[in-house]
Amino acid sequence: MKNHSELIKTKLADKQMRENVSSAMHALQDRRKNLINAKFQDWQGLRTKAQKAKNNALYTLKDRVLEFEKNATKNGMKVHFANTKEDACEIIYELMMEKKISKVLKGKSMASEEIGLNHYLEHKGLNAIETDLGELILQLGNETPVHIVVPAIHKNRYEIGELFSEKLGVAKESEPEKLNAIARTHLRNEFEGLEMGISGVNFAISSEGAIWLIENEGNGRMCTTAPTIHVAICGIEKIVESFTDAATTDTLLTPSATGQFIPAYNNIITGPRKVDELDGPKEVHIILFNNHRTNILSNEDYYEALRCIRCGACMNFCPVYDKIGGHSYDAVYPGPIGEVISPQLFGMKEHGDILSLCSLCGRCSEVCPVKIPLDSMIRKLRRDKIGEAGDNAPLGANELEHSAMESYGFAKFADIATSPKMWRVAIGNASKFNWLLQSLGTSLPVLKNWATYKDLPELKGNIYKELENLEGVSYE
Ligand code: SF4
Repeated sequence: MKNHSELIKTKLADKQMRENVSSAMHALQDRRKNLINAKFQDWQGLRTKAQKAKNNALYTLKDRVLEFEKNATKNGMKVHFANTKEDACEIIYELMMEKKISKVLKGKSMASEEIGLNHYLEHKGLNAIETDLGELILQLGNETPVHIVVPAIHKNRYEIGELFSEKLGVAKESEPEKLNAIARTHLRNEFEGLEMGISGVNFAISSEGAIWLIENEGNGRMCTTAPTIHVAICGIEKIVESFTDAATTDTLLTPSATGQFIPAYNNIITGPRKVDELDGPKEVHIILFNNHRTNILSNEDYYEALRCIRCGACMNFCPVYDKIGGHSYDAVYPGPIGEVISPQLFGMKEHGDILSLCSLCGRCSEVCPVKIPLDSMIRKLRRDKIGEAGDNAPLGANELEHSAMESYGFAKFADIATSPKMWRVAIGNASKFNWLLQSLGTSLPVLKNWATYKDLPELKGNIYKELENLEGVSYE
């Protein structure tokens, strides 16, 4: 089991990273809110429509997969099935061997992160070059994505300028336009002589046998149209029945992700280059992979997680992610959706710890465009992590260890909180102890971990009376 506590301590001590992530998350939150207010009359109705469209595909997934295969094959694409991550990597490796290719260029794809493609190819002595700006920054810095949509958001422009200077041998820059120009020049060289491009998939439309990819930089289009061979990696949950279903869901995706009304590029791919066409790949391969998705689908507590369209909004609004950043989760998928799917895709033993990185505030579920009840799933997964006793497990069966002082504090709190009389007295007088809380907060065992990184709230006046006024009820 990984030691997440140590990892989180290191990340919390990285003030620059925390500042970068927090300011980016707040900017993304504001952009989303402003856009929805300005452009959408019935955002909630649209969420319900997308929820239904995705559910419809999930309820009939076996049929959708077969329909997609039939129509994509009719369109001239080759559909491969991979049950595991390793199977998916092997299919790509064999294709590269068959075509005598030693280097591929990749567009941004969380599916490729999930199957661990870069590492797999590296072990085989082959190369995968990232062409998305964020992914390129990570590859140069030998890091993993910190966020599923904005993978290098933990780095500011000065840090990126230094990295480019060190790794690409260019002058140190910090203006975004200049940094973009450096990346573009570097990647143009890589695109020359490109034979195989790899991409992810946002939607696979079963009735048409087509795939739909969205992106903002144009590198995705380069990877899918310039090479002789295009390979798309697609989790089976990305399949929807119709273009209408895909369009409904697509309408929610970029507003939720980055607060953009529409993405800069919508790429709809219906097959390889036709005889009379001048460009486009000569071969299109689609790898439909499972990696435990069918297990998730068969579990009524968790199947709804497969509606996820990887917009990242749950991360952008998560008060925990905002403080600790994505690397603290030590998982391909961080944040609330990561807490739900990482233990299920990669194992509870390996990733169960991240279930504690949630305050159950429910903001993630409120903003999720496809209405995934993330907070209630996290609670259920915590129950499952405890074991067979589930909800009836005794307190403490979840392997948490408390010091004697903490146990005493919790027991006293339970005594007070379960006695109406003592509770009234306690909250009526809480403000009198504000000085004690403020001065001792950072050293009291129960509070110190929390207070090291957060200001303790100031207790003012008679909270008990304020509550009565606020709610218009009497607690007498
Ligand atoms: S769970 Fe919902 S909010 Fe989070 S990434 Fe998936 S679709 Fe977006």
